[in-house]
Amino acid sequence: MALLVGQTNPSRITILGASGSIGVSTLDVVARHPDRYQIFALTANSRWQVLQAQCLQHQPRYAVISDPESAVLLQAALKAQGSKTEVLCGEQALQEVAAHADVDTVMAAIVGAAGLLPTLAAVRAGKKVLLANKESLVMAGGLFTQAVQDAGAVLLPIDSEHNAIFQCMPPIAAGQPLDMAAAGVRKILLTASGGPFLHRDAGSLKDVTPDEACAHPNWSMGRKISVDSASMMNKGLELVEACWLFNCQPAQIDIVIHPQSVIHSMVEYVDGSVLAQLGNPDMRTPIAHAMAWPERIDSGVASLDIIAQARLDFTAPDLKRFPCLRLAIEAANAGQTAPAILNAANEVAVEAFLQERLRFDQIPALIEETLSTISLTEPVSLDVVQDADRQARAVAVEKL
Ligand code: NAD
Ligand code: MG
Repeated sequence: MALLVGQTNPSRITILGASGSIGVSTLDVVARHPDRYQIFALTANSRWQVLQAQCLQHQPRYAVISDPESAVLLQAALKAQGSKTEVLCGEQALQEVAAHADVDTVMAAIVGAAGLLPTLAAVRAGKKVLLANKESLVMAGGLFTQAVQDAGAVLLPIDSEHNAIFQCMPPIAAGQPLDMAAAGVRKILLTASGGPFLHRDAGSLKDVTPDEACAHPNWSMGRKISVDSASMMNKGLELVEACWLFNCQPAQIDIVIHPQSVIHSMVEYVDGSVLAQLGNPDMRTPIAHAMAWPERIDSGVASLDIIAQARLDFTAPDLKRFPCLRLAIEAANAGQTAPAILNAANEVAVEAFLQERLRFDQIPALIEETLSTISLTEPVSLDVVQDADRQARAVAVEKL
């Protein structure tokens, strides 16, 4: 039980992906509790001015920026303002600030496959890891969960659905793996808003613009996950994520469209009891829950006005309208390197869509073609996973 025993007060946090949507929400919660939390390191890919402002406010020991030119600019700007924050650059530095001996908690909020190695570094160092980067579990779930156990790390889900499921499960001790069957849970009801195109005429999906795809009705998020929500690939990635987090099979998870995003997910016990977690759609709730777990702290999220909300709807997902969801379910069932290939092809397709080089309705075809080109293997090592990722990106880029 690496957590809590020996945890410092205030607890020292590294935020991987501090400049993003989850990173900003995490810093908002941190700022509400200066007695409990202290920032050790903040990281960003290239938006150095955002990181600069965050460093001036939170005074971390380190700031890591992946882009070398941005690193030079950030270092100069911070120095000029008398900041003591040391600026580091590059992938290795991300892993160092994630695994550093003086860190208690790591928020893993880099988007995409780029998050895998730094998140794994935090896991291997036995940290309390708050996992927003679902792609790392989708790519390498078996190796990742094994590493959690081997290192005695504490893995807490930030994804709102998985955090809700975690909250509906019986309490576990720090460092214990979650196990659905052992908990008497027979089914997970994974809720999905359905995104901005739930009711849009299917024939017009070819005309969707990046801004339309990123205009989520309930959640404000980064652009990649917003597109994934619009295609419902996000729910497919979350299905794989849930299988690893809660040690269950895809068949034990029902995906339920719930457009209001008030119920964040549910679990059904063997006695027929169904427990749900509700709240306003604001990521500061799961972030504060995981940061303070097993205690509770104020997150800044407003009370849920259930009377104003008045009604909650539920329907089954339409796999014809959302072929990305079908592909993800198939990949979850196929196992092996299929989810890693799906994830890599999806990252290429979404990036191309955001750059207006691929139509929205062409995203699933590119992923499906990539999946059908590459043979699956058992993901026995990180090398195998990274190889599948590289191969899938190369195939998808070629097919673009
Ligand atoms: P975002 O695009 O707003 O932020 C991404 C962060 O990752 C930024 O800080 C960026 O600088 C960093 N980054 C991107 N590419 C990088 C690279 N190659 N190397 C290093 N850093 C890099 O994304 P977000 O919405 O905050 O999502 C972050 C993660 O959390 C994603 O995996 C997403 O699926 C997950 N998540 C987000 C939400 C949400 O509400 N935003 C909800 C659930 C899960
Ligand atoms: Mg989610």
